[in-house]
Amino acid sequence: MLYQQQRTEVGEKALALLTTGLIVGTSGNVSIRVGEHVAITPSGRDYRTLTPADIAVVNLKGEVIEGNSLPSSETPLHMAVYDSNPDVTAIVHAHSIYATAISTVLDQLPTIHYQMVELGGSVQVAPYRTFGTAELAEVTSKALQGRSAVIMKNHGSLTTGDSLDKALSRCITLEWCSKVYLRAMSVGSPNILSDKEMELAKNQMESFEQRRDAFRST
Ligand SMILES: [Zn+2]
Repeated sequence: MLYQQQRTEVGEKALALLTTGLIVGTSGNVSIRVGEHVAITPSGRDYRTLTPADIAVVNLKGEVIEGNSLPSSETPLHMAVYDSNPDVTAIVHAHSIYATAISTVLDQLPTIHYQMVELGGSVQVAPYRTFGTAELAEVTSKALQGRSAVIMKNHGSLTTGDSLDKALSRCITLEWCSKVYLRAMSVGSPNILSDKEMELAKNQMESFEQRRDAFRST
């Protein structure tokens, strides 16, 4: 079987989306890129019963190479993101409650918390297009540019990373920030962190990363 390890991980993370409440039913999808191929969750399958053989392997045009199931309806979206972001090797797309709620009323999630450094700063809301279309893939990958998260109008969220762990952790961060922002807006006008403050937070994160690395290597 091609990419058994990656297909196992795709299945495990899709199940994690379900069990952590980030998605309900079969909404949302997950993929890992390996060179010229992508392992992606199947369309309309219960994530609690998936085996690695059920995870589709497609080429970068979205054509099936191996797998028992039809690939996700959002395969064109995943392909467009990989195509325009060569460093990205994993994608999580979810219909999580709070990011989806934000998507129906706002054009962006502003920088309300320093943790948004890991998302690339404020998160843009891409225009609405029908699910599964090339048009949705185009507007969403465009709104993602320069960041690792995007919100899709009246639809959900998409996060990227150089590992599926990172893409999933960003999905959780985006959902948490969306929740905080909506709660804050219900009682007042939330303070927004400036570009300067976000830059300082980014530098601080990098500094702690270096200190952790140095600590580990001693
Ligand atoms: Zn979707």
